[in-house]
Amino acid sequence: MDFSLTDEQQLMVDGFTELMNSRNWETYFHECDEKHEYPEEWVKAICDLGFDRILLPEEYDGFGADWTTLCAAYEALGRAGGPTYILYQLPGWDTVLREGTEKQKETILSFVGSGKQMLNYAMTEPSAGSSWDDMRTTYTRKNGKVYLNGHKTFQTSAMKVPYMVVMARNSEDMSVYTEWFVDMSKEGVTREPLQKLGLRMDSCAEVYFDNVELEEEDLFGTEGNAFMRGVKDFDLERYLVALTNYGQAYCAFEDAAKYANQRIQGGQAIARHQLIQQKFADMKVALTNMRNMLYEIAWKQENGLLGRGDCSMAKYYCSHASFEVVDSALQVLAGVGITGEHRVQRFYRDLRVDRVSGGTDEMMILTAGRAALRDYR
Ligand SMILES: Cc1cc2nc3c(=O)[nH]c(=O)nc-3n(C[C@H](O)[C@H](O)[C@H](O)COP(=O)(O)OP(=O)(O)OC[C@H]3O[C@@H](n4cnc5c(N)ncnc54)[C@H](O)[C@@H]3O)c2cc1C
Repeated sequence: MDFSLTDEQQLMVDGFTELMNSRNWETYFHECDEKHEYPEEWVKAICDLGFDRILLPEEYDGFGADWTTLCAAYEALGRAGGPTYILYQLPGWDTVLREGTEKQKETILSFVGSGKQMLNYAMTEPSAGSSWDDMRTTYTRKNGKVYLNGHKTFQTSAMKVPYMVVMARNSEDMSVYTEWFVDMSKEGVTREPLQKLGLRMDSCAEVYFDNVELEEEDLFGTEGNAFMRGVKDFDLERYLVALTNYGQAYCAFEDAAKYANQRIQGGQAIARHQLIQQKFADMKVALTNMRNMLYEIAWKQENGLLGRGDCSMAKYYCSHASFEVVDSALQVLAGVGITGEHRVQRFYRDLRVDRVSGGTDEMMILTAGRAALRDYR
């Protein structure tokens, strides 16, 4: 398998690398993380270079590129310390283009190039986390209108997004799960921010829907198909988390390597100690495994060979492997990493969250395990 980039892909990577080196973005990221603020200036800058057009089909003025291109973009941005977790909405055009009405598509496509947050998908509720069986949000048809009632929790970007696709059950037949495209400025929608351990440049919130009046045209996708729609799009979501994890680990590894070569203790660089060298050997193994897995998955996706458990396996593996790399990097940085404002500290917090958000470790294991066993039935 040849993972080398085409000239076009390399050009794009060079553009992102140049942007990341053009100023001290870290000061800005640190500030955004501290204030729990979305780094819109950075997202706009990478959108100006076409980040959000990577997977957008050419007919919509996108590049219509593939997962390998996306992987290379995440690698370049993550390696340079970019908070790529914030970008999860930007490659996900396929869902809206596949499921949305013309009006919904137009609404969301108007955000291309803006760097602004636009849309999130709301499934989780206090009674429905890993399992959606106990979902209680309902929609009810009355006098030609549709009324949405319920409470969603842990909703990413919810304080900022102007639209949300909300999964709800038909109050007259609770076996029917449907999604609705909700304008968040509607009467009856309220949001309350949640604090969180990491991923602080994005908001997370409780969202309440109190008799929110919708039209039939606000239906998203096909009535009764919400479960299947959600499951279909999990792969990309999980792949993006794994890409972010890998990028953060790469960045932490390079920060630690530079530090180990210049930090003198007992008259020599700490990099000369075998116990430190062992950490770098282990970190390098983990980075190589993650990179190979992620580029291989991109290749499989492009060739119609993506397995049902591949992206869950990648999310599970990369969130753990990157956490170990970042942990070792912190150990090498020692006091300098633990105190003060080193970015590796932030990665450590961010990575812990990724073992829960986007589906827990346990759910990734179950999906990947079942898929592995299915091959031997
Ligand atoms: C930062 C963040 C952002 C999020 N963003 C969104 C979002 O934008 N939209 C959205 O809809 N949701 C979002 N979520 C919700 C996320 O998907 C859920 O937190 C996750 O699915 C787990 O649900 P839970 O927290 O209720 O845990 P629970 O489902 O209650 O699980 C608790 C523990 O039990 C384990 N467990 C549960 N069932 C099983 C089982 N069958 N077998 C083995 N172990 C099991 C879990 O793995 C976990 O360890 C977000 C969560 C976080 C933390």
